[in-house]
Amino acid sequence: MLNCKDTTRLLSQQQDQSLSLRRRMALRFHLMMCSGCRNYNKQIDFIHKACRRFSGKE
Ligand SMILES: [Zn+2]
Repeated sequence: MLNCKDTTRLLSQQQDQSLSLRRRMALRFHLMMCSGCRNYNKQIDFIHKACRRFSGKE
């Protein structure tokens, strides 16, 4: 079972590289139960997309 620290670390890792299925499942499970990490996920997702748009890769 992941704690919040592991979850936030994996979430930012996930932006650069794909995770194993097992890790993705663990992440999803934690996000289902933890609103703090859900918010964090939304934030980095938004930032990441904005960055990509700025660099013109998409
Ligand atoms: Zn959490």
